[in-house]
Amino acid sequence: MKRILYIDIGRCSECLGCVETAPSVFRYNEQTGCMEVIDNIYYPEDLVREAIKNCPKDCIRWDENDD
Ligand code: SF4
Repeated sequence: MKRILYIDIGRCSECLGCVETAPSVFRYNEQTGCMEVIDNIYYPEDLVREAIKNCPKDCIRWDENDD
């Protein structure tokens, strides 16, 4: 089971709170005009948990994939 960190950009307000909390995990993509998860092998669980907890739109989550 693979876990994928996901932002529901349809709900995101681009407040940048997640970037302030976990700059190694989240960033604003100026080309797409959207927040995104940085492609990485490792994500610091404590910072991701903090970003999920503090996201005002409740739009960050882990998805599970069978691949
Ligand atoms: S904290 Fe949530 S609402 Fe704010 S930019 Fe990040 S994903 Fe979007």
